[in-house]
Amino acid sequence: DESIPSDYEIAQSVTTNHITDVVEPYGLDADDLQLLGEEKAKVELEAIERLREEGDPKGKTILVTGMTPTPLGEGKTVTTVGLGQAMNQLGEDALVAIREPSLGPVFGVKGGAAGGGYSQVLPMEDINLHFTGDLHALTSAHNLIATMLDNHIKQGNDRDVAVNWVNWPRAIDMNDRVLRETVVGLGGDVTGIPREDGFILTAASELMAVLCLADGIEDLKERIARIIVAYDEDGDPVTVDDLGATDAAAILLKDALKPNVVQTIEGTPAFVHGGPFANIAHGTNSLIADEVAAHLSEYLVTEAGFGSDLGAEKFMNIVSRFGDVEPDAVALVASVRALKYHGQDMWPPDVDALEEEDVDAVYDGLENLEKHVRNLEKFGVPVVVAVNRFPQDTDDEIEAVVEHCEEELGVPAAESTVFADGGEGGIELAEHLVEAADAESEFEPLYDLEAPIGEKIETVATEIYGADGVEFHGDAEDDIERLTELGFDDVPICISKTFHSLSDDSSEKGVPEDWTLEVNEIYPSAGAGFLVVLTADVLTLPGLPAEPAAENMELHSDGSISGLF
Ligand code: ADP
Ligand code: MG
Repeated sequence: DESIPSDYEIAQSVTTNHITDVVEPYGLDADDLQLLGEEKAKVELEAIERLREEGDPKGKTILVTGMTPTPLGEGKTVTTVGLGQAMNQLGEDALVAIREPSLGPVFGVKGGAAGGGYSQVLPMEDINLHFTGDLHALTSAHNLIATMLDNHIKQGNDRDVAVNWVNWPRAIDMNDRVLRETVVGLGGDVTGIPREDGFILTAASELMAVLCLADGIEDLKERIARIIVAYDEDGDPVTVDDLGATDAAAILLKDALKPNVVQTIEGTPAFVHGGPFANIAHGTNSLIADEVAAHLSEYLVTEAGFGSDLGAEKFMNIVSRFGDVEPDAVALVASVRALKYHGQDMWPPDVDALEEEDVDAVYDGLENLEKHVRNLEKFGVPVVVAVNRFPQDTDDEIEAVVEHCEEELGVPAAESTVFADGGEGGIELAEHLVEAADAESEFEPLYDLEAPIGEKIETVATEIYGADGVEFHGDAEDDIERLTELGFDDVPICISKTFHSLSDDSSEKGVPEDWTLEVNEIYPSAGAGFLVVLTADVLTLPGLPAEPAAENMELHSDGSISGLF
């Protein structure tokens, strides 16, 4: 739409306030911050200790999730930022917490991960590029552990590491698919022992999950220490602690642990901290950021990755058990384009076709949205549907969704135009959510931790994904037996599944029926504290598209950038 300037232009047009002035009304002063210029800061751990001593967090948590998206994303981050702004316009005290972007998407598919339009976090170029160096710190810490592991093997291998059973690849913050599978240690005896290895994205490292769950330095160290990097010849786990790498890795992460705080376009403080995957990990920003926000403010608006079947399920079954956070209400983001996509036979998604008005297709796609509503209700949390309006959407299309939610599904719904209008475009949505969050919460996770591993997986598969059941393939059955023997059975499960569908088949839309979830492998993320359940192959190192966004970027002699967003 020509009437809305680009994200970059909008960002440039805003005069930001000094970050100390932004957070001061919420109870943080200059001493509580490690300033990184005028617009970015990290909250010092001493300040977090002080808040803890002052008492329990007072804030309510509003979790933003979405229906099954198109690959373009339906606007959870935009809605999260816009909702925080809207609540402040309403006179409510609200903070925002979102994940910090990694570089892959920036250079691959055009579009940043700092929100968009008039609902962005600033400075958006920094946030999307190097930001406060957390991704760099994680990459370094991850690769330090990998280096120490191979060095251990080379220097005599006292711990008897089975070289074909190493579970700690290298990490990189770049969508460089050729590194997915590699051979390391070539070059003869002086170099090392040749073995197959590979790379994953830094965001997929268990260290990212660990950073996002740790509540302080001691907890960070304990979690790093128990990460399993390999198994020995007897099949016993080899941990980071066995390599003597715990403190060195923690040293590299000590600043990354401190939550980053910036501001939205309207000056609402926003924590942008940590960005774990929402399939092999739990998919939400750091718990420590959520905790700080809940201490400082009446409401925290935070985003969970992908749909209710992934990020939100994991927030409720995993994150809420580890931290003192419970969702008091959920904003479920729907878009007309995603509804049209689910309402017709289209695979892969044809982006241009989805821009054409088609109210019937919208109606046909509503069953997907309904399933997400019902999923969230299973946790006892009130749901409000946020219809994120894109420029090409028509009134009839939007009206169809809002009306269906309120009249057929029995949940409040509101159109949100926070992208085009900022907080003002989310007032009605914010009002619904304040009302929902203030009602008595009946939140409860979906399964008991004491249930057997297989049963926990079945519960999520049948209740949330809508599968008839689960089929465990050979390796997965052995994994369950081994993990139960090792005592890793009474922890939450983190199922890795495609986000393109409620089922495990990306091409299946709507609410797939008559299918069985196939589980291939289960492994412990012992530092994070959950079991990862692999269904299909998960891409932990994606590649660039045929026309990477990077090709159209330009750096001007005054240091300004074009083509970034
Ligand atoms: P998610 O967090 O669900 O992946 P985002 O909020 O990042 O989605 O939005 C995905 C992309 O779509 C971003 O580039 C964002 O700026 C853009 N976008 C989101 N909502 C709108 C809207 N209402 N109008 C136009 N563009 C939008
Ligand atoms: Mg997002």
